[in-house]
Amino acid sequence: MRPPSASNNNSPQFPPSPSPNTQRNQQSLLTAKTTQLGSGTAEPQTPSRPGTTLPQQINTDESPSGQPQTTQKIQRSLKDRVAAAEERGETKPASGPDSWDPLEKYTQGEMLKVHHSHPMALLSDIDINLIGEWEELPDEKLLAQPFGDYAAERKNHGTLRALLFGAVIEITKAHKVTVCAPQQSPTSNKPPKTFLIYNLSEAQKQILLQRKVWSSTNISFHVAPLEPTCPDYLFTIKGLTTLTMEQLEKTIEEVWHDEATFTFLKTICEQVPVETQKQAEQTLLAFIDSMQVTQLDTKNKGDIPAPSFCVYASGNIINEESTWCRLRNYLASREYKIKFQDPGIIYIPHRPCSLCHGADHPRGLCPFPQKKGWNGPTGKIDSPLIDLERRSDTTSFRDRNRAKAARIF
Ligand SMILES: [Zn+2]
Repeated sequence: MRPPSASNNNSPQFPPSPSPNTQRNQQSLLTAKTTQLGSGTAEPQTPSRPGTTLPQQINTDESPSGQPQTTQKIQRSLKDRVAAAEERGETKPASGPDSWDPLEKYTQGEMLKVHHSHPMALLSDIDINLIGEWEELPDEKLLAQPFGDYAAERKNHGTLRALLFGAVIEITKAHKVTVCAPQQSPTSNKPPKTFLIYNLSEAQKQILLQRKVWSSTNISFHVAPLEPTCPDYLFTIKGLTTLTMEQLEKTIEEVWHDEATFTFLKTICEQVPVETQKQAEQTLLAFIDSMQVTQLDTKNKGDIPAPSFCVYASGNIINEESTWCRLRNYLASREYKIKFQDPGIIYIPHRPCSLCHGADHPRGLCPFPQKKGWNGPTGKIDSPLIDLERRSDTTSFRDRNRAKAARIF
């Protein structure tokens, strides 16, 4: 699953899009092909080492007398140059007792993606005026969401802000960074959990985005760009008594490529200006071709296996939240039936994992504690048991959708 990438297209609907993860049984929508799509740009850029791209400081111009000057022209303050050297790690010896890398305390390796249930999930419960002020702050910015329930209480925000501040300095060696806590929206009944990191340089921002999830014994947190991107996670299917995904994958693929779906996609294309319709069509086809399914080993009461199947598609392909919501609403309203069984029950959990705050699994099945070297909170609270009767969020999406087609959040 590719992480989302920032989009900056100013066309009415869709920007140039990354390639889908896989190409499947490509059918024609308005006789379109997706082969012209560009390569994906979802992965954050490898950060350029601060200082390595600076222009040469040595002035080799000739003097008025015709003799080359050999003196160096100092264009930056000594303080800035020492700070840059510290960021590059040049002020520490390469070996010996002082060569310990503070980043070793953070869980190493590639981290999993945190899947949210809607594009604005990270900004939920934050005062909208504060979000407006955050947008105006200088330099590069990132959102940071601490793992676990600790952030759910306002009284802990001061401690978390200090821990995040320390971690960001340790990771980026920044001298100018600022971290601030969120303020609760007057219309929300729970505290927000997302903090803001700002005054970052582009290189420092990319360092933080490279691992996305940072986990030490002090604090574990997830960083994401301030600009929201559409999620990969779409919905979950329950109620199927099978432990294999092949049949369901085939069913979803058939539904997403049938005449009804193509007619729906065509209506979206027809709503964009004529000159961008072809591009919109390719984008939508790429989106449905990027479908992926994962299986969750959830259980019903009595420890009875009741697997859930999470359905994803590359959300970063769609750069417009309302179009993504229309797509998700439509695809979640369709019927997914495997041979000899009733259609699956489609739902979108309202309560995210209380550990990573991802929407696609309960805390008991959170994948992060399984990560080698994980330092953060564990998934010991909440079992993988999903009680269909008691969980308010397990109402059939199809039933709810019939009643209120356009509102799922
Ligand atoms: Zn989780």
